Amino acid sequence: MSSPMIAGALVTTLLGVVICAPTGVGAQATTAAPRPGAAGLGDTVQPRLGNGGYQVRHYRLDLRFTEDLTGYTATSTVQARASHALSRFNLDLKGTEVREVMVGGRPARWSRAGDELQVTPESLLPDGADFTVRVTVRGTVPDAQQATALGTSAIGLVRQGTWVQAMNQPSGAHRIAALADHPAQKAPATITVGAPSGLNSIANGDLTGTWREGPLTVRRFDSREKLATELIQIGVGPFTVVHGKKGLGGVGLRYALPRKQAKQIKPQLDRAVPEAIRFLTERLGAFPLRTYGVYATPLGGELETQSLTLLATDSLTPQGFENNGTDAIIAHEIAHEYFGNSVSPSKWSDLWLSEGHAVYYQMLWSQEHGFRAMDKGMREIYQQANAFLQKEGPIAAPRRAAFTPQDMAPYGQGAYQGGALVLYALRQKVGAAAFERIERAWVHDHRDGNAGTDDFIALASRVTGQDLGPFLRSWLYVGKVPPMPGHPDWRP
Ligand SMILES: [Zn+2]
Repeated sequence: MSSPMIAGALVTTLLGVVICAPTGVGAQATTAAPRPGAAGLGDTVQPRLGNGGYQVRHYRLDLRFTEDLTGYTATSTVQARASHALSRFNLDLKGTEVREVMVGGRPARWSRAGDELQVTPESLLPDGADFTVRVTVRGTVPDAQQATALGTSAIGLVRQGTWVQAMNQPSGAHRIAALADHPAQKAPATITVGAPSGLNSIANGDLTGTWREGPLTVRRFDSREKLATELIQIGVGPFTVVHGKKGLGGVGLRYALPRKQAKQIKPQLDRAVPEAIRFLTERLGAFPLRTYGVYATPLGGELETQSLTLLATDSLTPQGFENNGTDAIIAHEIAHEYFGNSVSPSKWSDLWLSEGHAVYYQMLWSQEHGFRAMDKGMREIYQQANAFLQKEGPIAAPRRAAFTPQDMAPYGQGAYQGGALVLYALRQKVGAAAFERIERAWVHDHRDGNAGTDDFIALASRVTGQDLGPFLRSWLYVGKVPPMPGHPDWRP
């Protein structure tokens, strides 16, 4: 997203934290004995997100909305491989009503504890076994007012009139369906959306099928690239899908625009989107997707949902572009297709690598298009840095307790402005040419994968042939900004 958007002041109370303890560990137990998968991945910022004991290989999400769009049925089918012998395992799930849980086509026992769905298959799953778990839930779609009352931006689905959209970052996806809700468990995905036939529907990836089911029209979308659950987008509404001229490198462009405003909005996108793709591919190399697009809705939200950026219709009219600086926002969101979407964080404390890069390229875009000089903006961030570092903790080690609500951690100034400042400091230290080599290697080497702060430090050191560990750690793990290379006159 382009800035932290906390929907309200309400703090989400964290209820029912469950830590699964291994069972049956006794004198005879060996490391090979089946045990439950962990309830989380041990993420320091979001400890309960994702699940241990398996790696996801593919997601399928089948959604069927009610005709009035207030409710839905969702079946999530997760193909996974056990990373140790499993007696049971978890998926993340918040709210909704569980209708059925199957493992390998057989009914499985299940129970719920807090935001965890514990699944016990009929028979044990050996280490390395491929298995499929299918969970059907029934849920409601909150309207904008009900969503605000949730007190978080990690809403999941939200509805306004005949429009539905998803807002998941960082943890809303498991309000929609049972999933392994952590970017470290990203996988290729198939999403089918059944919506009333008078409306359109869309999701991440390419449209690969359309059929009728009673009053619903179902569309299937396939993401060949791995998709993190936080980046899922699901749209239903009175929109039309129009195609843009192919972007640089043959990237297919599609825009889901309100039927009534499509003619008014498309010319701005035809100009801004290919220009942002050109700007980024020139600096970073091949675009990570074959298809890119925009989903424009009345509610909006500036969210980099993969291959289908969510934007507000108001910001896309000729007037909206001018008032909101939408060109620079589009550059920010498209930069996320490299940083965050293709190269996803290993842990949530690595968020600075997503948002910091997006802010950095947004600022660079503004400078190169005759708006604001980057040095000037960075100096202002530098002057504010000690205040936000003190509040949130170091850029790569944010303190969960510093965020309100805590489920939005670590979306704050440290990840956004702080992250951009670290990248600027690195460019000052190694020079523009070496910095560009680091950036190109980063998005190339970790394309369609996960990488974290240690990986970035190692790559920057390798590419430049100098140990940048002490320098980068002094920016990333200390609660006070160091001197800025090349700007001895800057004072924090
Ligand atoms: Zn962003």
